[in-house]
Amino acid sequence: MQCPGCHHQETRVLDSRVSSDGLTVRRRRECTKCAFRFSTVEEIEILGLAVIKRDGRREPYSRDKLQAGLKRALYKRPYTQEDISALVHTIERDIQLKRQQELPSDAIGDIVMRQLKKFDKVAYIRFASVYRQFSDVETFKEEVDALMPRMTKNSAKGGPPARGGHSAFGGNPPIVNNRKPIIKNQ
Ligand SMILES: [Zn+2]
Repeated sequence: MQCPGCHHQETRVLDSRVSSDGLTVRRRRECTKCAFRFSTVEEIEILGLAVIKRDGRREPYSRDKLQAGLKRALYKRPYTQEDISALVHTIERDIQLKRQQELPSDAIGDIVMRQLKKFDKVAYIRFASVYRQFSDVETFKEEVDALMPRMTKNSAKGGPPARGGHSAFGGNPPIVNNRKPIIKNQ
């Protein structure tokens, strides 16, 4: 890690702080030559994951795209960038736990929906209505009713709303790999 001020190669770590979700580490550093202070964040980065789109094309996984989608769903909701980053990390942890080198976009969408549902119900509904492209008003209403039981008469039904039935593994045997989370030092 070189000093951004003078490009000296040696820096001293002043302190390290692990984020509350345990998924990132922030380090304050000081250049041993010019005493310039800065901080670095170590976080897990997903490498080499291909996303299989609905039309069958593949594209590299993009955190920026995930974050942009979340921000659209969380528009005007009361969260900081830090909250959103924590949500991104949680979603990426779930993606990593799949241990796949390729994942259909639907499988990633399901993970996003599962986490958004816990994070913010309004954002979940927004995301689901775009992502799932509810084919009819009735399906959409069922989802909303399931989330907001006080607003509906038949809240006794309970249980999670019906899911799209996408399988992350799509019938293929899991690919065995021994990739480990890569720690990126920025
Ligand atoms: Zn320096």
